[in-house]
Amino acid sequence: MTRDPYELRDLAHEAGRRLETATASQIIEWAVVEFGESFCVTSSFADAVLVHLVSSVAPGVEVVFLDTGLHFNETLGVREHVRRRLPVTVRSITPPLSVGRQDGEYGPRLWERDPDSCCAMRKVAPLADALGGYDAWATGLRRDESPTRADTRVVDFDATRKKVKVSPIARWTQADVDTYVARHDIPVNPLLSQGYGSVGCWPCTHRVAPGEDPRAGRWAMFEKTECGIHT
Ligand code: SF4
Repeated sequence: MTRDPYELRDLAHEAGRRLETATASQIIEWAVVEFGESFCVTSSFADAVLVHLVSSVAPGVEVVFLDTGLHFNETLGVREHVRRRLPVTVRSITPPLSVGRQDGEYGPRLWERDPDSCCAMRKVAPLADALGGYDAWATGLRRDESPTRADTRVVDFDATRKKVKVSPIARWTQADVDTYVARHDIPVNPLLSQGYGSVGCWPCTHRVAPGEDPRAGRWAMFEKTECGIHT
């Protein structure tokens, strides 16, 4: 039984204002106290910073991973590392259609023709289903990642899914992430040190030039910068 969406909305807006200058740990502590087991983390396993932060406050927390069937082996390696080393329960969510069945019903390599539909089927709808039993979810969004993420609030109301969306590291810079990774020996996707600024499904992820927007390598052939989960 999840809470009333209007109550969640008001709660999110108030907390977003109050916690704007709070530390990541303080934001997570608030979410854990407020939502208990109705709070989960989502991760794309570009790194395990957020998962590590949350699991240190709430051991046993559930981590939702959208397993599209099109991830790099390196990404699945980070997932396995997390599963073995951190006190969390990883829930890998798969879309209703396998990649093969999607090819059969919509034609091969839908991502080359209509990435919005592909993301809708393989990411957006599965996430909505996966979050159904929770009141709040944590994301690793950061304002400095991309202009599209510059307005990310530390706590917000996800009006699409009627959930509270918590972004504890929204105010962190890449330098903050690097410091945390080094201090806590956090698993990081090796592709990030091989020219990839951001890592998603392999068909839609390309290397970026030094100094380029880290997300410029995602859906590089399209006017698309987000999969739809955060928009
Ligand atoms: Fe499909 Fe690409 Fe979206 Fe993955 S990122 S779901 S392959 S369009």
